[in-house]
Amino acid sequence: MNIPDIIIAIDGFSSTGKSSFAKLIAREFGFKYLDSGALYRGVTLYAMEHGIIGENGDIDERALGEALPGIDLNFRSGNEGSKTYLGDRCIEKEIRTLAVSQKVSPVSALPQVREYVDRKLRELGSRRRAVIDGRDIGVTVFPDAELKIFMTADPEVRAMRRMKEMLGKGEEVKFEDVLANVKERDYIDSHRKASPLARANDAVVLDNSDMTLDEQMAWIKKLIAEKFGND
Ligand code: C5P
Repeated sequence: MNIPDIIIAIDGFSSTGKSSFAKLIAREFGFKYLDSGALYRGVTLYAMEHGIIGENGDIDERALGEALPGIDLNFRSGNEGSKTYLGDRCIEKEIRTLAVSQKVSPVSALPQVREYVDRKLRELGSRRRAVIDGRDIGVTVFPDAELKIFMTADPEVRAMRRMKEMLGKGEEVKFEDVLANVKERDYIDSHRKASPLARANDAVVLDNSDMTLDEQMAWIKKLIAEKFGND
C-alpha cells in the first residue's frame, strides 16, 4: 500500500492499545514510530538519577528547567523496533519500571517538560512519515496531522487487558482495583490543566472494545484508502 508523507496522530485513553497499534502501523507502512510517553518517562528517569526528584517525590523545578535543554533523548530503530535512548545509552527497560511509572505523571504535568517533549516530537517528525502516540498529539503537538485517530474502549475491557498484562508479569491484582485505577487515570488525564487528554474535532474515533489488532489494521487501511485515494 502506497502511503503519502503524512503524520498519523494516535491519542486516547490509557490501556486502549495505542502503542501496539502505532508500532504495527509504523512497521507496515515503513514509518517512524514516536512514543511520546517514552519521552516523558525518559525525562523522569533523568530527573530521578540526577537527584532532581527527591525520595519523597518532590521535584526541583528550577534544576529540571536548567537540565532540560541538555537532556539528549532519542529513538533508534533496530531489529526489535524502536528503542528509547538517553545519549548513547538504551533506557528502554529502565523507563518501563514501576518506579518511573509512579513518578511520571507529576513530571509530565509541568509546562516546561511538555514544551521540551513537544519540541522534540516536532523535530523528530519534521519530515512526516511518522506515527506518534500520546494524549495530546492531534490537539497540541501536531494539530496539522493529516490523520488523527482517537482510541477508546470500555473501561471494563481495558481493565481486563491491563490485569492480564500485570498477572503475566507476576503481579497479583484484583479486577476491581485495576478497574478503579483505569477510571481514576481517565479522570486525571482528562482534567489536568496542562494539555489534558482531548479528542481533536477532526479525529476519527476507534472503539476497539471488540476488535483484534488485525481488524484494527484493516480498519485503518480502509480509512487511508478512502481519505487519500490509495488502495
Ligand atoms: O503512554 P505512557 O504510559 O508511556 O505515558 C506515560 C505518562 O506520560 C502518562 O501516564 C502521562 O502522564 C504522560 N503522557 C502525557 N502526554 C502524552 C503521553 C504521555 O502526559 N502525550
